[in-house]
Amino acid sequence: MRVYLDNNATTKIDPIVKVKMQPFFEELYGNPNSLHKYGMEVRPHLNEALGSMYDSLHAADEDDIIITSCATESNNAVLKGIFFKYILSNPEKNHIVTTSVEHPSVIDTLMFLSGHGVDVTYVDVDHEGGISANAMKAAVTDKTVLISMMWANNETGMIFPVDEVGAFAKEKGILFHSDAVQAIGKVPVNLSKTDVDYLTFSAHKFHGPKGIGGLYVKKGKALPNLFHGGEQMGGKRAGTLNVAYIVGMGLAMKQAVGHVEKMNSDVRRLRDKLEDAIAKIPDTIVVGPREKRTPNTLLVSLRGIEGESMLWDLNKAGIAASTGSACASESLEANPVMSAIGEDPELAHTAMRLSLSRFTTEAEIEYTIEVFTKAVERLRSISSTYAYTNEVA
Ligand code: PLP
Repeated sequence: MRVYLDNNATTKIDPIVKVKMQPFFEELYGNPNSLHKYGMEVRPHLNEALGSMYDSLHAADEDDIIITSCATESNNAVLKGIFFKYILSNPEKNHIVTTSVEHPSVIDTLMFLSGHGVDVTYVDVDHEGGISANAMKAAVTDKTVLISMMWANNETGMIFPVDEVGAFAKEKGILFHSDAVQAIGKVPVNLSKTDVDYLTFSAHKFHGPKGIGGLYVKKGKALPNLFHGGEQMGGKRAGTLNVAYIVGMGLAMKQAVGHVEKMNSDVRRLRDKLEDAIAKIPDTIVVGPREKRTPNTLLVSLRGIEGESMLWDLNKAGIAASTGSACASESLEANPVMSAIGEDPELAHTAMRLSLSRFTTEAEIEYTIEVFTKAVERLRSISSTYAYTNEVA
């Protein structure tokens, strides 16, 4: 059996999305900016896809959705765009507040901007892996221009207080960006209710194609043009539009948002079943209370077992999981979120993430429980640190 439990890294394409995309590689291949029939006939499809993104996010018509190549690009674009538009022209307001557990596309971009005079405060997570709205508010100074806080964390699934922080930012006249990559399709993301100025998303995290993402920009919060050299996206991001992928992302988002309830009933039940079985194994820690997490995610630490050894055993049995962010998967370092939670340094080396999708089945979870339990027994029986810890105890 093959079981894919690494859906926070990427997801399989929804079969109906794939079917919807197909004609745009074959007969409907015109450039939507061309004036001939080939160009004109694809435009309604493009508009339909953008319309379904506006509807899915409850964005207003006056707001903007800029199509990008991925969430990494959207995060770079918003942070560098704010630097160009606001900080360069008013260096008095050069402070950005973020969390210490953002995706590397936020953290590394902010580190780059620090080298250009931007002052960044990184708010730490609490012992559950959560972010306190009060800690975010307390980090703000009269120099703060932007708060950037993810909607849900990619490693723990912990949902961050976007409503409260967004309302606070609005009240103080501070810009608010949220990386919602891990939230869309898992929890409601309703921009008519939550005050967000910029929102990042990526199709391959919700069963759309890889290589396409977006940046929502609220009316009046426009950024400098991302790419120059064409009129596409209203001149904000020049370059021939990837119609097939945009159409795929539009339908994938509609489908994902339409399945939020299923995620919170069926997928949550399967995740909880897996979690209950794993939590029964002695010396196992699950990070974060499950009701505060996205319904598909589980980050677990197994005392005495290297996360990588566990992954290896699971992989041999056909089960895909991860030790954390796929962007850092080639370096066998401590899990950064676990390090940030920080109670016990050993936990950071023993973390592994299991993330389900709406395509995960009961049989797959049952198989995973069986394999997982046996792998822990095997690895602990040969782990010198685990034997030592138990003797001392
Ligand atoms: N932001 C978060 C929270 C993520 O989990 C990821 C991917 O893991 C990204 C951004 C980057 O997404 P992309 O692969 O579309 O660049």
